[in-house]
Amino acid sequence: MDILVLLKQTFDTEEKIVLKDGQISEEGVEFIINPYDEYAVEEALKIKENHGGTITLLSLGPDRFESSIRTALAMGADQAILLDDENLFGDEYTVSQVLAKVIQEQSYDLILAGHVAVDDGSGQVPQRIAEILGIPFIGTAVKIELDDQHVTVHRDVEGDTEVVEASLPVLITTQQGLNEPRYPSLPGIMKAKKKPLSRPDVEIEKEAIQAKTETLETYLPSKKSAGRILFGEINGQAKELIQLLHNEAKVI
Ligand SMILES: Cc1cc2nc3c(=O)[nH]c(=O)nc-3n(C[C@H](O)[C@H](O)[C@H](O)COP(=O)(O)OP(=O)(O)OC[C@H]3O[C@@H](n4cnc5c(N)ncnc54)[C@H](O)[C@@H]3O)c2cc1C
Repeated sequence: MDILVLLKQTFDTEEKIVLKDGQISEEGVEFIINPYDEYAVEEALKIKENHGGTITLLSLGPDRFESSIRTALAMGADQAILLDDENLFGDEYTVSQVLAKVIQEQSYDLILAGHVAVDDGSGQVPQRIAEILGIPFIGTAVKIELDDQHVTVHRDVEGDTEVVEASLPVLITTQQGLNEPRYPSLPGIMKAKKKPLSRPDVEIEKEAIQAKTETLETYLPSKKSAGRILFGEINGQAKELIQLLHNEAKVI
């Protein structure tokens, strides 16, 4: 069973977002594996334990992604591909086109990815890739059962569960509840340093991966002022509330 895991590095979820010159500042920031991608890595490891095979991590991002890739290799993945050429970076369209192009050159039975990246949060990349590859897509998996030809997936649908079958190869995205990602062991960390990490050139025409969207502005949410509690007799409170909604909130 050849398994590809799409792995994105994101800001640590505890990080405070700071803007500098209209851009999100990466100064002093801790980076982690996108939490949903950790479930994908863990599930790949469990499938490999039962079915054998090879786990390859695939990432598109800058050099700093290597630290997260090494963590996933320390968890037990076998090898990794990092596409760190800035010419390949762009919007969801660009990222999916580039990743799909590289996937087409790999051998795979199963592709696992997070169902959303906790930073940019578009939840688009895996679906787009499955569409380009012409393979089934199953989102938000909380249980995956597999034989050599088929997969049965229990998927989270807003708190309910839907059971879906597909034949391999298939692309599945992972949801919280699927598993408990393991911590890398010390021997795992030592071994990970020597596991293969390739940074291949991707031959793809610039026009074919031209971003379809443009970020016009990035800004923080406006600061919320403290709430107000009205006191006193109920008719007086109602009158004061109307006056506040009219004069201050200007919503009536
Ligand atoms: C270095 C860098 C430069 C960028 N430059 C631009 C830019 O110029 N213009 C612009 O509009 N946006 C830019 N982005 C944002 C980029 O478009 C989004 O990160 C990307 O499209 C993925 O969208 P998402 O994070 O919302 O992924 P989602 O679709 O929410 O991610 C779902 C899953 O897809 C997989 N996945 C997503 N992205 C990657 C990846 N890069 N590598 C491997 N797996 C992945 C993961 O498994 C992830 O859990 C940049 C991002 C990075 C990291």
